[in-house]
Amino acid sequence: MFNKVLSGTLHGVEGRLIVVEADVSEGLPTFNMVGFLASEVREASDRVRTALNNSGYHFSPKRITINLSPADIRKEGASFDLPISIALLASYGLIPSESLDGILFMGELSLNGDLKPVRGVLSIVDLARNCGIKKVILPYDNRFEGAIIPEIEVYGASSLKDVVDHLLDNKLLEKMDANQHYVEKVKPYAIDFSQVKGQRSMKRATEIAVAGRHNILFMGPPGSGKSMIAKRVPTIMPELSYEESIELTKIYSAKGMLKSNEGLISTRPFRSPHHSITAHSLIGGGNVPSPGEISLAHNGVLFLDELLEFQKNTIEMLRQPTEEGQVTISRINGSYTFPCDFMLVAAMNPCPCGYYPDRAKCYCTPNQIKRYMNKLSQPMIDRMDICIHVKRIPYDELYSDSIEETSAVIKERICKALDIQRERLKEFGINYNSEIPSQKLDEVCKLSRKELAMRRDLFEKYNLTARGASKIMKVSRTIADLNGSDAVCEKHLFEALSYRMIDLYNGGQNL
Ligand SMILES: [Zn+2]
Repeated sequence: MFNKVLSGTLHGVEGRLIVVEADVSEGLPTFNMVGFLASEVREASDRVRTALNNSGYHFSPKRITINLSPADIRKEGASFDLPISIALLASYGLIPSESLDGILFMGELSLNGDLKPVRGVLSIVDLARNCGIKKVILPYDNRFEGAIIPEIEVYGASSLKDVVDHLLDNKLLEKMDANQHYVEKVKPYAIDFSQVKGQRSMKRATEIAVAGRHNILFMGPPGSGKSMIAKRVPTIMPELSYEESIELTKIYSAKGMLKSNEGLISTRPFRSPHHSITAHSLIGGGNVPSPGEISLAHNGVLFLDELLEFQKNTIEMLRQPTEEGQVTISRINGSYTFPCDFMLVAAMNPCPCGYYPDRAKCYCTPNQIKRYMNKLSQPMIDRMDICIHVKRIPYDELYSDSIEETSAVIKERICKALDIQRERLKEFGINYNSEIPSQKLDEVCKLSRKELAMRRDLFEKYNLTARGASKIMKVSRTIADLNGSDAVCEKHLFEALSYRMIDLYNGGQNL
């Protein structure tokens, strides 16, 4: 007897529909599985047989063939255990075939018949809804994740027996209420900008960076609070929209990093990979590509501490994904695209010992410093709109009882600036000042005659490159937006220029 059951698999972070077919016929007892299967899917035959037995379903040995179609999609993971078992039970006549109509199944079985959570549930349920499927039965621990998607019935089951009882109408599973939002309540961050004493200029630069989604580089001695501020960047970013949360949750779900019983992710990610990370783990990769750190930082912050300690080629590989906001990885069986739209925050010491230009502590020779700085490649500098030199916190600032601004206050200013940008830039189809294409720059950042003359002076005086000049323009646009100024004025240009001193520094000039 032949039966088929719907299921799904992951391709990158998107779901694909899979049909599981089971045929049971007379003949030599065998258990064959076909359909472009990874080894863990092939192993399902042993798990399924044992789980069925231990759940109390015994049947006579027959010739069993399982086919997973379409054949051109490689099937990964253990989520086919449940649909295979159900298709088999139906083929043996233990479940009526018509009870399987319009239901998508997924779940891994343990040998005693319990259902274990699987990866990628959100993407697959989303796909099921888009394909017009009415019901999904999935592992109990995945139920909140599945219920994020509206307009589809989601049932969480703890064991194979529960699923069979539901299909036989013996004991129905509890339907997840899609109207109830399984959106995690927006969690307050445990950290806050008010905990950072002093460092006014660094905070200001960070605020500007977030307000225009500019990448930022902190250069300064150890212990100057670079990581402390970087970690707090997500706390001043606007809250995730529902769509952004869905995108992010899909990535974490595909990577298997969503905690069981967790619904939608509602806080922006902060990823801080160690400098020994390989290019594959950073960008994404593997035999079957899975998302890398840059995708886990999607809609949030990627922090590269000790920037110069990273492998040069690893850093170079960031170039294309940072520009496109997504990364595509090609394999023999297709190409995989992962979103990776993040804000890049990096930190580095200004010299090998870290204390330059404090000559009381730093004994590095000019040559050593130059060699060290040369490790920072031009393409990397070009990725950074804002580079700020950070000083050690003076004693008085560290122990003053002045009350620092909270993240909420800073966030409010940033959100205002972001609204202004969005309104102005919508005709270009972009959201942030950092994305303004160079040919549109003069149109968006209109300068009066006086400021134009000043820009020319600065260009000549500081020997700026075209790229450097356009960064100054974009950043000064953001500064003007933060100040609520429609026009870009002299002081905005000057402040933006102060964040480009790296160009001169790297040119070997001693500032
Ligand atoms: Zn030094």
